[in-house]
Amino acid sequence: MKARRGAHKIISLIITFISLYRNSIGGAHGTTMNGGQTNMKSTTTTTPANLDFLNDLRSKYPHQPVFLQAVEEMAYAVEPLFHDPINGDFYRKAFLYLTEPERMISFHVPWMDDKGVQHVNRGWRIEFSSALGPYKGGLRFHPTVNDGILKFLGFEQIFKNALTGLPLGGGKGGADFDPKGKSEAEIRRFCESFMTQLCRYVDAATDVPAGDIGVGGKEVGYMYGQYKLLSNKHGEGVLTGKSKLIGGLELRPEATGFGLVYMAKLAVEDKMKSTLKESRCAVSGSGNVAQYTCRMLINLGAKVVSISDSNGCLVFEDGMSNDDWERIIQAKQVERLRLGALENMSGVYHPGGSPWTLPDLMVDFAFPCATQNEIDGNGASLLISKGVKGVFEGANLPVTAEGQDVFRASPILYIPGKAANAGGVGLSGLEMSQNAGRTYWKRETVDIMLKEMMAGVYQQMKAAAGEDGSLEQGCNRAGFLKVAHALKELGWVY
Ligand code: NDP
Repeated sequence: MKARRGAHKIISLIITFISLYRNSIGGAHGTTMNGGQTNMKSTTTTTPANLDFLNDLRSKYPHQPVFLQAVEEMAYAVEPLFHDPINGDFYRKAFLYLTEPERMISFHVPWMDDKGVQHVNRGWRIEFSSALGPYKGGLRFHPTVNDGILKFLGFEQIFKNALTGLPLGGGKGGADFDPKGKSEAEIRRFCESFMTQLCRYVDAATDVPAGDIGVGGKEVGYMYGQYKLLSNKHGEGVLTGKSKLIGGLELRPEATGFGLVYMAKLAVEDKMKSTLKESRCAVSGSGNVAQYTCRMLINLGAKVVSISDSNGCLVFEDGMSNDDWERIIQAKQVERLRLGALENMSGVYHPGGSPWTLPDLMVDFAFPCATQNEIDGNGASLLISKGVKGVFEGANLPVTAEGQDVFRASPILYIPGKAANAGGVGLSGLEMSQNAGRTYWKRETVDIMLKEMMAGVYQQMKAAAGEDGSLEQGCNRAGFLKVAHALKELGWVY
């Protein structure tokens, strides 16, 4: 225990050093946790000359820190391409082009609660890039949603979608509506009102939303129902993540979590010549992505040692059992219960805890599946001090800039969400194809396609990383290069 604490201290010192170094070269984006959101202290210190556009973005969007964080992370990852003697200048222009959404739509969403009181929420759809196909990306309903959070998610989505190999552009949307504590009827009325506004912008060939935090199959169903009533178009793939009965794809609910574990399995087998079997895997969150990440980890013989929600963390020292998993699914998908309210579980509940802050929870592999910036520099250093061997991001941007620096400075396997959680949007793309073909694909067929897709993403990452690069670098570069070359062929950047 003493030795572990010592290692933690040393790693904290390393983070401080890295942060100071990044500040000195102008690449720092100091982040602090704030209820899952990040306060990015944008710096105006010297930024490398070919990234000077970051200063313009910082002064234009100081109120969108997570968007700036996502752009900066990507900019530093692809910056080496800007030195290419033939295409360097073009790559820089293409990147700059991609930092501004093609279109941002905002609207009000009036709805009535069960007492007859009217409320008005804010809704958005960010149509970020159509270079590769229709805007594609989920809808998030959460009180913290704002235009900056959706711009960050839409920006990430462009490159993730490119990695799937499908003709999908990037977008994201949502509302600052909090589904927690709302009745089923209130949620349905909100979804219907949201779609009444959104329906004039979506179309199978233009913009195809799906779910995200706070938007699962049920909410997608209500929105799709309203779309059908308003449009008189039936069977179009205008929303994905639908239930099977109304045109959804087999395995879509499982896709992000299963795809994440398929990717982790490939990387562990390829890079570590090992397996996930018997390994201690910490999962955060207990929503869609976390639930099916746990399922596939258990299927592969791994020990799921944690799950969490925004109130606390359930720890399973001996691994989550099948009974535990079934109980969690019932509680989350049917009863809408908090983890703290669950009884008869083999795990121990830690109120206020997170898998990334519990000092004694030993972890071989980390699967952050809750939200952005959930692992900060200290959380990352704690994981390293415990000997974590790999971090696979189920959530989008779950690690702060300082946390990423800690992982980069260590020899662990680190795969960003753009690649690791691409299975969700990948199968959404297949749901669009299934709907367009007025057909139905069997579960086994879809599972084969998901495995092939994740293997394809892995190979692209590996190839783009080259001999010396990390999988993280490979992931960012491969996604960017695809979109950049499409922009050239379309004549949009020259
Ligand atoms: P869900 O709404 O189903 O679940 C989200 C989970 O994360 C809940 O357990 C929630 O807890 C927890 N959570 C949310 N905010 C916080 C916070 N600030 N601190 C601690 N826990 C928090 O969402 P999904 O599972 O669909 O999405 C999870 C992540 O995966 C998101 O980053 C999303 O963008 C990403 N993702 C999702 C895909 C999908 O197909 N659904 C595809 C690709 C990425 P609580 O109930 O207490 O809020």
